Amino acid sequence: MIAIVAAMHEELAALLALMPDEQRIPFAGRDFWVGHFRGQPIVAVLSRIGKVAAATTATVLLERFGAEAIVFTGVAGGLAPGVEVGDVVVATKLLQHDLDASPIFPKYEVPLTGHARFAADTAISDALAAAAVEVLRDPVALLGPSVAEDFGLTAPKVHRGLLVSGDRFVSTAAESDALRSALPDALAVEMEGAAVAQVCHDFGVPFAAVRTISDRADDEAHGDFTRFVSAVASRYSLALVDAWLATLPADAAT
Ligand code: SAH
Repeated sequence: MIAIVAAMHEELAALLALMPDEQRIPFAGRDFWVGHFRGQPIVAVLSRIGKVAAATTATVLLERFGAEAIVFTGVAGGLAPGVEVGDVVVATKLLQHDLDASPIFPKYEVPLTGHARFAADTAISDALAAAAVEVLRDPVALLGPSVAEDFGLTAPKVHRGLLVSGDRFVSTAAESDALRSALPDALAVEMEGAAVAQVCHDFGVPFAAVRTISDRADDEAHGDFTRFVSAVASRYSLALVDAWLATLPADAAT
């Protein structure tokens, strides 16, 4: 069974609305929703915000629900030039930007793993990126003309590369400048992905992350955040998960 982890409540709600038979299984203070989405067996859950919450969620999914793959959907702040609000980032690698056990270990390296950058599963990420290209082809059709216009979504793009995570909502230009100079290849910043990647690495289970850019991690990052999540990001993630699951053979996700 595949696990879909959403960072925000609105995204999970959009997903649950299309699960005809979901069963709520409360565990560790979270609600795990087990059922089918477009015929595929899935477990959907809200990760809650931050690396520890996300790691706990991932561990429970793997250990208690036997998840065979975890896909994280959510929003993120754009860092690299050209990664704009409304674009989608599919992670190839994930790193914790606030982890630093130097000089004992190299900066960013997760002690005793030998890794700073954890790879996302290539096959799932390729499929998600292909689904994202389809979903973003016509933002007006998906979101309606007024939402597309309000957020200036004319030709949203799909990017693939490094996603960085840390326990901080990055909302000043000074902070995002610092991240850009420390990690010039980072496309976007969020608060959960790299933690889930680390847990999945330990368990040897494939992981992928797809994030809609909600802000530029600068002084305006708080802006229309909530409205963006419900009007844009949750529709993108639903359409994306839908398009991706539709490509899987019926028994591949069991
Ligand atoms: N303060 C925000 C919510 C913070 S949590 C508010 O005004 O409601 C933001 C969530 O979105 C986290 O789950 C994180 O993964 C992601 N996110 C989006 N933009 C981010 C940014 N600029 N920095 C860090 N995380 C971001």
